[in-house]
Amino acid sequence: MNIHEYQGKEVFKEYGIPVNDQEIVSTPEAARAAAQRMGTTVVVKAQVLVGGRGKAGGVKLAKTPEEAEARAKEILALTIKGIPVEKVMITPASEILREYYMSITVNRNDKNLLLMMSKAGGVDIEDLAVNRPEEIIRFPIHPTDGIDDNGLTRCLTEVFETPSLVEQAKEVVEKLYKIFQEKDCSLVEINPYALCPNPNGGDENVLMALDAKVNFDDNAVFKHTEVEEMRNPEELSADETAAKAAGLSFVSMDGYIGCMVNGAGLAMATMDIIKLYGGDPANFLDVGGSSNPQKVVDALKIITGNPKVKAILINIFGGITRCDDIANGILEAMKQISIDLPMVIRLIGTNDEEGIAILKGAGLESFSALGDAVEKVVDAAKAASA
Ligand code: ADP
Ligand code: MG
Repeated sequence: MNIHEYQGKEVFKEYGIPVNDQEIVSTPEAARAAAQRMGTTVVVKAQVLVGGRGKAGGVKLAKTPEEAEARAKEILALTIKGIPVEKVMITPASEILREYYMSITVNRNDKNLLLMMSKAGGVDIEDLAVNRPEEIIRFPIHPTDGIDDNGLTRCLTEVFETPSLVEQAKEVVEKLYKIFQEKDCSLVEINPYALCPNPNGGDENVLMALDAKVNFDDNAVFKHTEVEEMRNPEELSADETAAKAAGLSFVSMDGYIGCMVNGAGLAMATMDIIKLYGGDPANFLDVGGSSNPQKVVDALKIITGNPKVKAILINIFGGITRCDDIANGILEAMKQISIDLPMVIRLIGTNDEEGIAILKGAGLESFSALGDAVEKVVDAAKAASA
């Protein structure tokens, strides 16, 4: 689960990580009023659940409240990576002396958390990771033993130039780690972690989190009501929301072959095999192991509601799931909704003979071999798109 920058910064603030003030508005007039209240040069920032806003024109400086209104109007009219901007943040502009990068993520290969830092943060961090990976310093954090204090200090010294900055950064790493552990995150990232003149006028420069990216482990959100409350409805596509309500395990994909499968492993394998045969799956959908025709009805309604779907593949390997129940569910769904897409069915396992007979009685063909079914559905989808 992903949240907006402003929500991430609220979490940072709660844990004592230095952030600027912020106001969230959804109209240019409100942006102007917020800038007026701040009484300083501000930055207007698109709040969308994707990165790369700076490069997409979603982050702009405004020296006066009038400029803030104009910039907010422009940004609220943007669509960034397919997502319309509905809210902007108004926040004081910091004078940036240098942009660092800092994040904690999970390194599954290593069975560890991974702290990554760089002197060369900012909007080009992806290019840096590809072209100059040696400039990203990596430090493993053991998931239960925690941070090796001396090791961390040594590592921070490679990135931050003065003892004062090392000290500030160390506190922030500890706080990020605390957020990561306490809220079951999958990623916490500050980019830019910016070096700025001390706003209180002291000699020492300070490090500030000018951006915040916090992702939560979906499987742990149920443990944290305060995290669940931060959920943004736009994070899920319309069909994902419908699937959630119907208790189906569903993920939207970019392709055109709608899939209904029983079992998560088989659903993954089905998507792989569709790719192998030159097709592209529109979704992952696991109807589960139960024998409930209503789930089949719900699943087919969701699949056929996606305008990108050109053909449907139903792949059932009956164990606990009974193929005759699935067949009845398919017929029931066809009564409730008009399915005018090619539909290819593969049924094998418990009560497959009964299931195949039920479908045959309704004039529907079914396959036993998955390869045959996938070949057929890919051809049908391609013919339908041609
Ligand atoms: P994204 O990562 O989505 O591009 P950021 O929040 O990182 O968005 O903003 C992009 C760039 O805009 C930053 O690297 C920084 O240079 C500048 N920026 C962002 N917030 C501020 C701010 N409060 N003051 C000054 N510059 C900022
Ligand atoms: Mg950023």
